[in-house]
Amino acid sequence: MKKIQVPFIDLKRFEPGFQDALNAKFGAMTAAAQFIGGEEVARLETSLRDLLRVGFAVSCANGTDALQLALRALGVGRGDTVLVPNVTFWATFEAVVNVGADPATLDADIADGGISLPALEEAIDRLKPKAAIIAHLYGWGTAHLAEIRALCKARGVLLLEDGAQCFGAFYKGAPIYEGALISTASFYPAKVLGAAGDGGAVFTDDPDLADKVRRLSNHGRTTHYGYGLLGWNSRLDSLQAAFLNLSIGHLEQRIASRRASAAFYQAHLPELGIDTMRPPKEYEENGYCNVCLVRDPSLKAELETRLKAEGIGFGNIYPGVMSRQPGADGVSQGHFGGKEGEVLCASVLNLPLFPYMKPEELERVLEVVRSVTAK
Ligand SMILES: *Cc1c(COP(=O)(O)O)cnc(C)c1O
Repeated sequence: MKKIQVPFIDLKRFEPGFQDALNAKFGAMTAAAQFIGGEEVARLETSLRDLLRVGFAVSCANGTDALQLALRALGVGRGDTVLVPNVTFWATFEAVVNVGADPATLDADIADGGISLPALEEAIDRLKPKAAIIAHLYGWGTAHLAEIRALCKARGVLLLEDGAQCFGAFYKGAPIYEGALISTASFYPAKVLGAAGDGGAVFTDDPDLADKVRRLSNHGRTTHYGYGLLGWNSRLDSLQAAFLNLSIGHLEQRIASRRASAAFYQAHLPELGIDTMRPPKEYEENGYCNVCLVRDPSLKAELETRLKAEGIGFGNIYPGVMSRQPGADGVSQGHFGGKEGEVLCASVLNLPLFPYMKPEELERVLEVVRSVTAK
């Protein structure tokens, strides 16, 4: 029998009828030259608001802009210090610098990929930051979410939650975005709710913050040629909104499929001596990205070599901490906590995970992993 190859992610597995519905929708919108704003964008924002149980959802051009819009709306700018996780996607760090503020990094908690709570407390005492960003990685959030929200509130630190990877995750029975001061999402195609290109959104319960985000994302406009703020153009295209609206109709099914694949790995990999990361209690994950922690560098290298040779995709999300990036030189205000982030980055191995993986694909990944660990 021919051995099957398995991509790390395959975005082409649309539901039956999805592409026909999309072609009809795009055809009608293009015929009407409906490209900016309009009904699809409004419908998307309403759906996001209801789905995530937030007061306001404002769409924008991408998840990186969403972070910058949120920081600007919070009034973060020149001279302000913002705490950021040392393990995250670079956009989290970059956004702080791009609004003119100064980032300082917080060590990771290797148990869940979130930030270290003691590092956060120390950094608040020492730096008196204006804001902090946490990133909910790997399809869940930190075990200390309630404590982090409460601590930041008590100490007057504005907390922004980077929710690019946690769409569809539940915390204490509610969407994880519920109860955040301000949070963001990315609709990059590989994310849980992916667009046919770039997209993002900002969520908040505060009407003033929502209003500010909306104005900043449209040149700070008060009227068509009146500008109350210095913003930029970060609107979400109408065609992207239409694609996302159609996708939301299939989201439950896609997430159920992701969760089933994550559960398969979590059930079988420990039998092979591979440590899988799992969501902390109180969380229901969205199955975004299966994480193995392979602490033995030679085993990790061997696994990667074998996966590659057998045509099995894999990832290292993320291979390096923020504070060690050349782009952070001379920019960071310091690091708080230890080096668990470095250990996490050196250990992480992500196996294929995307909606509608076939059972034989999951079995094949396991078989290849077993061929290395059984020796
Ligand atoms: C994807 C991602 C972003 C950036 O989103 P874009 O839409 O690609 O700009 C930011 N933070 C995290 C944690 C992400 O995973």
